[in-house]
Amino acid sequence: MKVDLFSDTHIHTSLCRHASGTMEEYVRGAIDRGLTRLVFLEHLEEGINVSFRTWLTEEDFDVYFEEGRRLQQRYGEEIEVGLGVEVGYNPDCTDRILQRLAHRSWDRIGLSCHFFKVDGCEEHLNVLSKNRRTIDIIERCGPNRLLSRYFSTLTEGVRRIPANVLCHLDAGLRHQPNLQLEKSHWEQIDILLDEVKRAGMALEINTSGYKYRGLPFPLPEIIALAAAKAIPLALGSDAHSPSEVGRYFDRIPALLG
Ligand SMILES: [Zn+2]
Ligand SMILES: [Zn+2]
Repeated sequence: MKVDLFSDTHIHTSLCRHASGTMEEYVRGAIDRGLTRLVFLEHLEEGINVSFRTWLTEEDFDVYFEEGRRLQQRYGEEIEVGLGVEVGYNPDCTDRILQRLAHRSWDRIGLSCHFFKVDGCEEHLNVLSKNRRTIDIIERCGPNRLLSRYFSTLTEGVRRIPANVLCHLDAGLRHQPNLQLEKSHWEQIDILLDEVKRAGMALEINTSGYKYRGLPFPLPEIIALAAAKAIPLALGSDAHSPSEVGRYFDRIPALLG
């Protein structure tokens, strides 16, 4: 199993309103850590109803590209800077998502799914959130069933959205107490990976998992399954502050063996 240990392909900035630090601070952080490549992967969502927006507007993306191009010029000798997007799949808005993706020239498109519509809730539910109220609602909805829906929605997203990499595959419901992957979930993961392979996408090893559970997203067994299917792997810190660039990358050689 091989992965580029000097390339952090999943970085956020204060533009998404739940991360801190300017784009330039992340670039400097990456240079300080000896990385040769950094890819910003900012949040794009469509049709999500929540009280606080945690993604970029089209105007924000204009700023993002302008500043990103400036940084590519300024730091190009020291590091390669990519301007990508982490697109949240929303089955209700696929056409609009496809239009927005086609409208810009991304260096990388990462696919994920954070938000779900659930019965009895006006707002979408962020299934990656550690908010107490969200965890309680998930508990009421049935975490097993929701996790199953998370995997099937990602699979549908892989089929419909042209992306380069699938992000944090098993991070859904990550704060749910006592939730274990069941046999049926593993079957879904197998199908999902087959779709990733068919689509020519890579699988992300997201090192933010080390902070939450001492293991990456996805689990080492899933990474091994992907490698056995000859799916390329890519490393991403999912940094939401400049100090998190390249976090836990030193653990990866031992993980991949
Ligand atoms: Zn984020
Ligand atoms: Zn992210």
